[in-house]
Amino acid sequence: MTTERPRPLVAGNWKMNGTRAATKTFAAILEGCDAALRSKVDLLVCPPATLTYVFAVAAVGTPVKVGGQDCHAATHGAHTGDVSATMLADVGASYVIVGHSERRTDHRETDETVKAKARAAIAAGLTPIVCVGETREERDAGRALAVVGAQLAGSMPEEAAREPVVVAYEPVWAIGTGLTPTVADVAEMHGFIRQSLVDRFGAAGRNMRLLYGGSVKPGNARELLGVAEVDGALVGGASLVAEDFLAIARAYME
Ligand code: PEP
Repeated sequence: MTTERPRPLVAGNWKMNGTRAATKTFAAILEGCDAALRSKVDLLVCPPATLTYVFAVAAVGTPVKVGGQDCHAATHGAHTGDVSATMLADVGASYVIVGHSERRTDHRETDETVKAKARAAIAAGLTPIVCVGETREERDAGRALAVVGAQLAGSMPEEAAREPVVVAYEPVWAIGTGLTPTVADVAEMHGFIRQSLVDRFGAAGRNMRLLYGGSVKPGNARELLGVAEVDGALVGGASLVAEDFLAIARAYME
């Protein structure tokens, strides 16, 4: 078993933000991903579905990857308003976020749904970023590890033993709130997630990238990304500002 750390990934989740004018922001991210930065970290931007193709075309020949924010579990069919993993791959995406807490809440996605989406992503040649995380009530009740453990068990596809899958730990109460867990809480949770993945997927679990997400900003990136078993970040609000997103990634240059 290798003891090498996975290469870090800093991923931006633009959520339902951005029109064609935001191409300028993406261009600034592409420009800012210089040789020094790309030697340390992988960068990914997940724009709304309407911008995936435009961004993927702009990113050709650069190290910056483009991803989707969600996908349907089916490849095609009568699913009005949905986008399949096959479609995302077709327009140049290489990752897709699945099971974000906003999808789990707003669209009542279950672990089973998330797992089916992750499987569809892998089948389409995409790397799924499987999101897990507890609510404030669950943490306060001392159930954070149990909740995240159950989400992992139910949402991670068996294919993760042989295909690339990324896990993002995002405490629901830290998303978009400016609140973050303590370094000790992040370390405890990431250590727990790592052990669960190793127990289930063996060496693949050791090498899987574990991202932390929830109010990551330039001012706290160094501290959060420096925690053991944190292999990068899933960034919401701060990824909409090129300089902030790049500043977070530059934490790996220090
Ligand atoms: C997210 O939505 O994945 C997220 C982490 O958001 P924010 O960085 O804004 O908390």
